[in-house]
Amino acid sequence: MRFVVDQDYHIHSKLSSCSSDPGQTPERILKYAEDNNLKRLVLTDHFWDETVKGASDWYKPQDFAHIMSSRPLPQSEKVRFFFGCETELDKHLTLGISKARMEEMDFIIIPTTHLHMDNFTIDESDMPGIERRRELWSERFLAVLNMDLPFRKIGIAHMTCSLMAPAAWEDHLAILDGISDETFKKVFTKAAQVGVGIELNFPYLKYTEAERPRVLRPYRLAKECGCKFYFGSDAHHPGELDPCVEQFEAIVDALDLQESDKFHFEYEI
Ligand SMILES: [Zn+2]
Ligand SMILES: [Zn+2]
Repeated sequence: MRFVVDQDYHIHSKLSSCSSDPGQTPERILKYAEDNNLKRLVLTDHFWDETVKGASDWYKPQDFAHIMSSRPLPQSEKVRFFFGCETELDKHLTLGISKARMEEMDFIIIPTTHLHMDNFTIDESDMPGIERRRELWSERFLAVLNMDLPFRKIGIAHMTCSLMAPAAWEDHLAILDGISDETFKKVFTKAAQVGVGIELNFPYLKYTEAERPRVLRPYRLAKECGCKFYFGSDAHHPGELDPCVEQFEAIVDALDLQESDKFHFEYEI
């Protein structure tokens, strides 16, 4: 059975500093789900747990009390709206959420590709070249997989995101091109083994015909290794919500995704 697009597990509300859009309310997000026949949503505002030392100035105000202010989330008969967060992995490979706070979350997404935060997620000495950023792609992903985490409610956010090399659009594709099938398979075999979810969150329709195979290769290999997938729009504004569904459908076709490839986090089981 073809993968049914009925979920969006990566959405920001106005509480995220990079949104700050008064229109991006939980109620508006719920309407998006109802309008597009989505059954499950997770709100994933940016979060660095203040009980973990090391928050950057940007993360400091985005603490637990801040993201909790969206609760209780609105629900409807057709849609379950879960509470989660997008935490962070800093340059010391410290995860920005404690074990205790993980228990407060239905779902947690971890971005390993946020390499646009100079001196916070990437060391100054590593900043210039794409070669080091390519090494960091696997090092950071594997570091998360080697942690003692409740992987059944964790997703790896946008693993092919252009933020891994923000200086030029071409750079993130060049990084992916230079990672061998063997390296990808090593990472994805471990990911499948621990049971973490792999997020499908990339601007597929924006890529040219020539670029598409380059961005799809890691996902194809992940599927081959038995990884499970979920969709995330990463929407920050109401205008970004509805258009992402067309993109999700195009990705289902491009990767020939089936229902058996879908990730279910522990609250759904
Ligand atoms: Zn992100
Ligand atoms: Zn995000």
